[in-house]
Amino acid sequence: MFTKVTMFKTRGSYYMRYAYITKIFSFESAHHLPGHRGKCARLHGHSYRLEITLRGPIKDSPGASDHGMVADFADLSLIVKPAVIERLDHQDLNAVTGLHTTAENLAHWIWDELTNNGLSEELLYRVRLWETESCFAEITHQERG
Ligand SMILES: [Zn+2]
Repeated sequence: MFTKVTMFKTRGSYYMRYAYITKIFSFESAHHLPGHRGKCARLHGHSYRLEITLRGPIKDSPGASDHGMVADFADLSLIVKPAVIERLDHQDLNAVTGLHTTAENLAHWIWDELTNNGLSEELLYRVRLWETESCFAEITHQERG
C-alpha cells in the first residue's frame, strides 16, 4: 500500500515522518444479544458509526496522486465500503456475522474483514465502533491477541 516514504534530514541523519489518518463511516443495522439481562436481548437497531484509523509513513512520491499522504482516503473507502459497510448496512448483524453482536466482537470482525480484503495490517492502527452517541468499543493491534 506504500512505496517510498518522506525522509527528512536533521543533523546529518534522515528520519521518516508518520501520521495517523482516520475516516468515518456509518451504517444502520439490527441486532440482539441473546441472554442479555436488559432490553438488548430484544431485536432492535442502531445507527453505528465506524472510525478506521491508519498509522504509517507519509509517502514521498512527487507527482503521484498520493504524494504526501499515508494513504488516500478514497482508497481506504474502496476497501471499507464493500468489505464492511455494504455487508452490514440494513442487515441483521447476528445473521450476517454469526457473532454475539456486541460492539467489542463486531470491532474484531470488522478488523478481520478489512485485512482479509486487502487493507494492510501494518497500516491499520485502530477500529473504533460507536454503537450509540455515547458508547463505543475500540481495538488496536494490542487487543488482537
Ligand atoms: Zn444494541
